[in-house]
Amino acid sequence: MGIDADILIIGAGASGMAAAIEAAGVSPEAKILLLERSDRAGRKILVTGNGRCNLSNSGIDVSCYNSAVSGFSDVMERYADDRSFFRKMGLVTREEREGRIYPYSGQASSVLDALRFMVSASGAETVYGAQVTGILPQENGFTVTAEDGSEYSAAKVIVAAGSPAGAHGFANRKLISSLISQGEGFREFSPALAPLMVRDLPAQLKGTRVQADVTLQLPDGRRETASGEVQFGSGYVSGICVMDLSREYNGEKGAFLIMDLCPDMSCRKIAEFISEVTVIRGNADASTALSGLMQKSVGEMILKTCCDDLYRRKTGSLTSKEIENVSELIKGYKVEVAGKGDFRNAQICRGGFSGLNGETLESAVCNGLYFCGEIVDVDGRCGGYNLHWAWASGRAAGASAASSLKKTPEQ
Ligand SMILES: Cc1cc2nc3c(=O)[nH]c(=O)nc-3n(C[C@H](O)[C@H](O)[C@H](O)COP(=O)(O)OP(=O)(O)OC[C@H]3O[C@@H](n4cnc5c(N)ncnc54)[C@H](O)[C@@H]3O)c2cc1C
Repeated sequence: MGIDADILIIGAGASGMAAAIEAAGVSPEAKILLLERSDRAGRKILVTGNGRCNLSNSGIDVSCYNSAVSGFSDVMERYADDRSFFRKMGLVTREEREGRIYPYSGQASSVLDALRFMVSASGAETVYGAQVTGILPQENGFTVTAEDGSEYSAAKVIVAAGSPAGAHGFANRKLISSLISQGEGFREFSPALAPLMVRDLPAQLKGTRVQADVTLQLPDGRRETASGEVQFGSGYVSGICVMDLSREYNGEKGAFLIMDLCPDMSCRKIAEFISEVTVIRGNADASTALSGLMQKSVGEMILKTCCDDLYRRKTGSLTSKEIENVSELIKGYKVEVAGKGDFRNAQICRGGFSGLNGETLESAVCNGLYFCGEIVDVDGRCGGYNLHWAWASGRAAGASAASSLKKTPEQ
């Protein structure tokens, strides 16, 4: 078989480009080919971190990930330093709150530019508009087929085709079915980091953002808490902490989100504060009683829930029972979870391929076939953990494929 590529990479996204760069570093003479279905590389990178690309985190630890790949921690440890990986591409990074690492420019496009430049400088070629639908093992490598019927031959193949997260539809059924039919273990994708739909969320909260401690209470008694900015939408709640909690929610009925809307003050302190306000601003409209503590729309919603006839009353008329109820509601605003966002509004998916060697990311059933990025059954928390997995796994798969070329010169 004539060989089109020594290493063929399916998908020129975050992990595929990292794989190409690392493979070229290990084996500069190798012919590397990326097949990308879209008309440009790394589109998803541009929307990450709200356009700023939270590319890694200084607190990377395996406990921040769910995975069905045993031994994947080896990859995390070997390729821990994303900052120097990017520095070598001419990109400076900076660390922000909670260890989140961003390009110093604050623009995701800087990350994409650095990767694209390195891929092209490495001599790797990219074919655009090539949607891969099948991978067939041959005696000395693979035949890779695209939707338009074109075929490519390669000694090694790296699958870096991502997941349906953030996409309008799932276009990879044929590729995945072809791999499953060859014995690869695959767990169906489901949205993981996504907003949570909630019942009866007051419309006036739409568009507000608050700092809160949020607890997800599941019907089996499990409780998970996360802190940070909560964003209220129309019938849904979002924000990094809510998305992190969404990883634990799998559609159970009877799940609740309980929000502490004033995490820095105890219930007693809040009640004392409101009592003071009833004296200081006794003649002000009762609906403004919490405006010195929290956003007006949030405070008004809380007061409306606890006090009858709110809009006809003055702050000084709040009773001690009402003040107690208001304080308790601020510390535990509870909404029922009705569902999770779909693939389109999810940042990542759970599921993917798992029967891999955790050190090399090579398939356990097919020599010379490697997987990296989100198509592998590894998913992490919000905060740069998923892009870290994309770079680390891409580099591991690229290095493994390139080193195995060296071991088999007859190919
Ligand atoms: C809105 C949003 C915000 C995010 N923000 C962050 C963040 O700030 N920090 C963070 O860590 N993570 C973030 N993520 C997650 C992160 O983007 C992904 O984990 C990461 O991009 C996965 O890299 P990947 O290479 O596996 O997949 P992708 O980046 O999706 O790349 C896969 C590539 O393969 C191509 N492809 C797919 N199928 C085929 C095929 N059959 N043939 C040829 N090509 C194919 C695709 O077109 C794509 O270019 C965010 C995700 C979204 C949706």
